[in-house]
Amino acid sequence: MSIKSGALFVVATPIGNLADISARALEILARVEVIAAEDTRHTRQLLQHFAITTPCVALHEHNERQQVPGLLVRLQQGERVALVSDAGTPLISDPGFHLVRAARQAGIQVVPIPGASALITALSASGLPSDRFVFEGFLPARGEARRRRLEELQHDTRTLIFYEAKHRILDTLEDMQAVFGAGRESVLARELTKTFETIHQGALQEQLALLARDANQCKGEFVILIAGAAAEQRHEVSVRAERVLAVLLEELPVKQAAALAAKITGGKKNQLYEMALALKTVK
Ligand code: SAM
Repeated sequence: MSIKSGALFVVATPIGNLADISARALEILARVEVIAAEDTRHTRQLLQHFAITTPCVALHEHNERQQVPGLLVRLQQGERVALVSDAGTPLISDPGFHLVRAARQAGIQVVPIPGASALITALSASGLPSDRFVFEGFLPARGEARRRRLEELQHDTRTLIFYEAKHRILDTLEDMQAVFGAGRESVLARELTKTFETIHQGALQEQLALLARDANQCKGEFVILIAGAAAEQRHEVSVRAERVLAVLLEELPVKQAAALAAKITGGKKNQLYEMALALKTVK
């Protein structure tokens, strides 16, 4: 395989099982001049396993912006650079965005070397609808901000996908139960591709019950998948919103009525504003 000079290779690495690395990824990692790695110690272990001796430089969330100019100069001089993160696909809840963006803006070729990503791995085995989905990454760490983000998603009909760490898994599932309802179908994909992989499907209340009775189920890395809101539920919500708006519009101007209806129903302010304008026109 010939590999281009002066190109940035965005290389996916395994999310647990080292056998998931691709032949192409190994070749690129062995032949580039330098590997920009989220954690050089972690990546050196991976490289050592495959007897690759390419030098690494650190590129993590705290130094990415400072590292970009130097890497661009190297690329412009014709060096080949690989970008990797600790696990899975770089840029997916991982560093690399600033480098890739700057490289493209500088006219440098950016070559994706695809491989594992926890969200696609989880979705592919979840049994939830996969034709339309939304990846939300990590939710905000603070409870209030987290619940607000979940409220924005509660009527979304697409499958919702989140990443979560073990120390927040219980709080997050509790908030999800409070916002989406205890009966919302979900899948908890834990330790994918590793020894203790579990993919558990059930209502949110069942996921919480499982974690409460088996502390081992709280360990490791998680992808949380939530079934989208049912279409009928969305219809009910919009019928209810319309009724609320109709009452408010008798007393208030459109903007205020929409803002208040958004607070009462949890709906989106701009959608309710459109609905209010339409109701006003009908009158
Ligand atoms: N770049 C990675 C990717 O492509 O999936 C994601 C990196 S992000 C910093 C780490 C999060 O991804 C974990 O907290 C977890 O939510 C999810 N994750 C990564 N590996 C996983 C695995 N083997 N099983 C389940 N979730 C995993």
